[in-house]
Amino acid sequence: LVERMRGFGTTVFAEMTALAVRTGSINLGQGFPDTDGPPAMLRRAADAIAHGHNQYPPGPGLPELRQAVAAHHQDHYGLSYDPGAEVLVTVGATEAIAATVLALCEPGDEVIVFEPYYDSYAAAITLAGAVRRTVTLRPDGGRFAFDPTELRAAVTPRTRAVLVNSPHNPTGTVFTGEELAAIAALCQERDLVAITDEVYEHLTFDGVPHVPLATLPGMRERTVMISSAGKTFSVTGWKTGWICAPARYVRAVQTVKQFLTFTAAAPWQLAVAYALREELGWVAGLRESLAAKRDRLAGGLAAAGFGVYRPAGTYFVQADIRPLGFTDGAELARRLPELAGVVAVPTQVFYDHPEAGRSFVRFAFCKRDEVIDEAVGRLAGLR
Ligand code: PMP
Ligand code: GLN
Repeated sequence: LVERMRGFGTTVFAEMTALAVRTGSINLGQGFPDTDGPPAMLRRAADAIAHGHNQYPPGPGLPELRQAVAAHHQDHYGLSYDPGAEVLVTVGATEAIAATVLALCEPGDEVIVFEPYYDSYAAAITLAGAVRRTVTLRPDGGRFAFDPTELRAAVTPRTRAVLVNSPHNPTGTVFTGEELAAIAALCQERDLVAITDEVYEHLTFDGVPHVPLATLPGMRERTVMISSAGKTFSVTGWKTGWICAPARYVRAVQTVKQFLTFTAAAPWQLAVAYALREELGWVAGLRESLAAKRDRLAGGLAAAGFGVYRPAGTYFVQADIRPLGFTDGAELARRLPELAGVVAVPTQVFYDHPEAGRSFVRFAFCKRDEVIDEAVGRLAGLR
């Protein structure tokens, strides 16, 4: 393994899922739903396979999906993208993020990320030979927030891009209009590219809106907007994502993408194109159901003695372990299978400054009610 990748080991998600399987624990670690997406979408994928859509699609993606993504962004956000030149289909958001960083960052360029951050960001930045600068999100009035002064201080003459994930994994925070405006102002002042990871765009609760950074004045032309089907349609295994950006960025990312994977699998593209056009009603139901699951898990964790951060979006609740007398989330996560038969993810692994997340563990609520109830019942014994 090349020297610069040696610190990366195995992802925490694979590790925690393996721990759950090995110990027979309930897996509230890795974020994936335990129910399926819209049935008609699943049939579309099966039909695509049965009807010969089994060879390489065009490198940039099937026109059906590129058109559906462009129409979705127009309808939901009033953002116009040309499906022919400004939309690129990728193998999940993960490839989109990696290909974008590889395409836009020279070795030594700096990329600002908000910690805790989704683990693939650090690896993508490192693969590109670029350098990450972290701005810390800290507990603040029941959510996690950054200090705009710290954000400003993170910019140097080498800064090329800011990577923004809202709704945010692992905290569940949805960035406010004010926070987005601070990021947008900085991008324009310092001529930075914004790379936005919006995979939880449809999973916000209590009427909290998702506002894409690209909708702020002056931002569309400097933003690479990334999302995928996994969370919106409960198909995390389909690995179908996309980029929307000005043509010059899409050309750059496509240059890299064609040698990473050339193209993405055809059947899922057709099924997701259908779902983006026809199944947003199903997604509204998913959102309602997830909001109720959030409350179910948050209430159960609070009753079990955790300090609970009730999130405005995503699949995840942050739980402060100190009220239960624990101090280190990594240690608790390791012992949780034996103590309670439950698996969670220690939040500190998503930081460059782990002490900032030391007392938190992340629990996923994208699970059937009976699974959440069983987990919460087991965790009640921790006290
Ligand atoms: N970004 C974030 C914030 C995520 O939580 C995930 C994981 N689901 C991804 C990207 C990866 O998305 P995909 O499975 O589409 O590659
Ligand atoms: N996004 C999911 C999570 O945060 C898992 C992704 C993965 O397994 N790489 O739990």
